[in-house]
Formats: sequence, structure tokens, C-alpha cells
Amino acid sequence: MALLLKNANVVDVEAGVANNGNVLLDGGKIVDTTINAVEGGMRVFDCRGGFLVPGFADAHVHIGLEPDWRNKEAKLPLDKQYNTGRISRNVDSALDYGITLMRDVGSPGVWGFKAREQLEKRGRSRLAVAGRLLTNGHAKELGVLVQGRDLPKAAMVEIGRGADVIKVASNKTSISEKAVHEPYTVQELRKLVKTCEKHGRKVAGHAHEPELIERALRAGVHTLEHSWPLDEQMAEQMRRKGIIVVPTYAAAELSRLPEKVSLVPRNVYKAIYLPWLRKLESGIKRAIRCGVTLACGSDAGFVPISFGRYAVGEAQAFERFGAAPQEALKSLTIRGAEACGFQDRLGRIEEGFEADLVLLKANPLRSTSALSKVAAVFSRGRLVR
Ligand SMILES: [Zn+2]
Repeated sequence: MALLLKNANVVDVEAGVANNGNVLLDGGKIVDTTINAVEGGMRVFDCRGGFLVPGFADAHVHIGLEPDWRNKEAKLPLDKQYNTGRISRNVDSALDYGITLMRDVGSPGVWGFKAREQLEKRGRSRLAVAGRLLTNGHAKELGVLVQGRDLPKAAMVEIGRGADVIKVASNKTSISEKAVHEPYTVQELRKLVKTCEKHGRKVAGHAHEPELIERALRAGVHTLEHSWPLDEQMAEQMRRKGIIVVPTYAAAELSRLPEKVSLVPRNVYKAIYLPWLRKLESGIKRAIRCGVTLACGSDAGFVPISFGRYAVGEAQAFERFGAAPQEALKSLTIRGAEACGFQDRLGRIEEGFEADLVLLKANPLRSTSALSKVAAVFSRGRLVR
């Protein structure tokens, strides 16, 4: 049955305006944004002057993983079992914060695909799936080890399985590992990007070292994950090419919390995490100043944070680092949908778009603090929170 959301301030995120109006949802879609009268066979939801925005997107999660690391089944690679209950818990936790779309950028085996199927059956929330992470060694428990020359072939396997997006990791070293890996060349990455573009898929590039970020940018990845450090030239290149950065700052900021919560020993925090956090902060500030497009990602699952809250926290951090509230809201909606490759059907309140919406008690164009004041969440045209 059609559902009329009446008496709302409907936020046009791109234009940065909120206009009083009604929105009609039917068949899981937004079917009318000009309707004024209630007609027969329509249910009505009174928004009471709240602010209606597109459903929020968390552009970087690991959906299959257990976010509560104190739970002893959580630790990879010990945990080999796909866990239906855990997927539902993660999705529900995200919905509590208004996250109706997530991009899974690496879960073991075929978990991402199974999770997407589970969500379809359940009829709520959405998942863009990267399938297995294509990696030169980093986080290989979430993906498959691939030689540089085999990247296009490996991407085709994931696309054949139904991947919405391809994730590639090329690190020499990382904060979480001791091993040193042989990174992919620009040419190898470029061939991967070309193959994916031919099949309408975006490439999410994960790199840490400056030289490897540079390679990913030159190869033309569509989103850059984590992205630190980020100098002026890199930022300029990203702006010019329209590359979206998903800094996953919240995950790094977690290390600030007491050891009991963050699981990061204080001496490690001081020696490794604090300098990292500072680099990340200055990188985000630089990206904002240069007009680089940002999307919100939490890295939930890979780090011990619950799903939902930290993606919204990411938008709030962007405002703290100099972004206008409207820009931060874009990062949490339109840009997230873009990162998934779903920009034609998600991220806007427009006729024909999917009916994923969040009702807020305050105006998010004034302050991102409003993003935490969720009054209702609609997923696929139905009220779910
Ligand atoms: Zn991650």
C-alpha cells in the first residue's frame, strides 16, 4: 500500500534547501514529491515538521564480521562460519542510526553475496558488495591473493558472482600487519580499472603508503579507502578526477578511547596511532579545503565498532574539520550512493528513486548534530524504525 509522508521539510541535499511538502512512496519507490491531497488506499505518516533526508550510506563496512571483538567467536581467521544472526544484528544496528545502504568492501569468501541475498529476502536495508578483496597480501583473510597481471581476470570472477564494485588492496606494510608485500604497478591497476569500467563497476582502492596512493590515483580508481597521508598534489589530482575519498576516520579515532574499549595498548597508541590520527586529520582537512569529494565509511567489522554510529560520526567529523553541514550531508547520502555505483537510484529524494529515507528532528543543513536526531527510518518504502 502507498505511504504518504506528510508535513515534512523535504531536504534537497544537492541544492542545500529544505521545503515544506509531502512525499509519496509506493512499491518501494518515491513516486510523487508534489502530492498535496490524501487519496483512498493510502496510509499516512505525519512527519510533524521534521526534516526528511535520503537514507544514509556507510561506504566502508565488513558486513560479515563481528563488531564486538570481546566476543570470542569474532577473531579472524578463526571464525569461518557465515552467521545469519550476526548479519541481521549488524544491519539492524546500522538502521538504528539511519544507515539504509552499506558497501561491503571485503568479507570472507562469499559472505557479502549471501548477506545481500539475506537482506533482499528480509526486504530491508541494502548492500553493495565488493565480493572478495583482490589483494597483494594485505587482509588476505577477506579476499584472494592475486598476482598483478591476473587482476582483470580476478575482477571478472567477482563480477561474474554478482559484485557491485571491485575492491583492490595494494600495501607494502600496514598498521595491523608485520609482513611486507610486493605492491601492484600503475599499469596493472590501470588494466583492472579499465576491465571494471567496461562492465560498469567502480573500483575501490585501498593503499596506505604515499607512493601506493599515488599509483592508485594514477590508475584511476573511483574511490580511495583510508587515504592517508594525503598531500596537496594528491588532493588536487583527486579533485580533478572526481575520485571519492573514504577516510574511515572514525575507525582511527577509536584508538583514542580507553584501552578497555579500543583494545589498543596505550604505548602503541602513543607510538603508532596518535601520529597516524594526526596525519589522517590533516589529510581530511586538506581534502576539504581542496574540494575533494568525501564519503562516509566506518570500517565497522574490521575494527571493533558497532555498525551505524561511526558512519554518522564521520559526517560530523567532516564538519569539525571544515566542511559545511550540507557537504557533510552529501558525504553521508549522495556520495555514498555514488561510491556504490548506485547514484541513479539512491541518495536523493526524487521521483523514481528508491524509497530509503530518514526523518530527522532538526535541520541537518544547519548542523551535523541533527544527523544523530533520528525520528524515523524508511527502507524500501516501509517504516522500519
Ligand atoms: Zn576496511
